[in-house]
Amino acid sequence: MRLLIVEDEKRLAEVVAAGLTAEGYAVDVAGDGRTGLTRARTGVYDLVILDIMLPGLNGYQVCAKLREEGVDTPVLMLTAKDGEYDEAEGLDTGADDYLTKPFSYVVLQARIRALLRRRGSGVAPSVWQFGDLAIEPAGKRCRRGDTEVGLTAKEFAVLEYLAHRVGEIVSKSEILEHVWDFTYDGDVNIVEVYISNIRRKIDTPFGRSAITTMRGAGYRLAADGG
Ligand code: CA
Repeated sequence: MRLLIVEDEKRLAEVVAAGLTAEGYAVDVAGDGRTGLTRARTGVYDLVILDIMLPGLNGYQVCAKLREEGVDTPVLMLTAKDGEYDEAEGLDTGADDYLTKPFSYVVLQARIRALLRRRGSGVAPSVWQFGDLAIEPAGKRCRRGDTEVGLTAKEFAVLEYLAHRVGEIVSKSEILEHVWDFTYDGDVNIVEVYISNIRRKIDTPFGRSAITTMRGAGYRLAADGG
C-alpha cells in the first residue's frame, strides 16, 4: 500500500513516515499543498494523509481539487487543534476521516487500516481467507493452515496488495507503484525477487501455488489459495 503524507511540520512528517515505512507501507512526503496536489493527482496512492494548515494550498483546497478531478483516493485529514477543523467543511470537500493533533500513533495506524479496508472491499475483514491461506493485515501475520509463515514487512506488503486485488492480474509496475515509494528508481524486476521469496514461504513448503505468473502481464493471487 502506498501512502502520501502532505504535512509541512517536517519532524512530524518524518516520524510518521518512518513508522509507516517500518510497517511495510510505501510512503512519500510532500511539504506543501501544491506539491501534495501534484503527487496525489497521479492517483497512485492508496491513501493520502493531508494536513489542513499548509503553505501554498490548504488541505481543504487540495482535497476539493482532487475530488473535482475525480481522484477518489481516501483522504485522512490532520488538524492542529480542536476547533480548527470544521468537520462539515472537511466532509464537504470529500475527506473520508479526520484526526486531531496531537494524535497517538496507534490511533493513526488504526484509522489508516480502516480506510484502506473500506477502499479494498467495502467491508472490513480482519483476516483475509483464501482457502487455507490466511492474511491478517492488522497484525501483519500470514498463515498457511495452522502454520505461521514469517514474512518481512515488504514481502507482506506485496502479498497484501495482491490480496486486495485477488483474482485479478496485477502487473509488476502496479505492485511497484503501490508498495515502493517514489524514491525507489531501481529495476521493476525487484518485484520478481519478492514474489519468488513469498512463494518460497507460502507455497513451496506446502506443495501449493497461490501466486500464478501470467507471462508478460503480471501475477495473480488465487481466491482459493492455490
Ligand atoms: Ca501544518
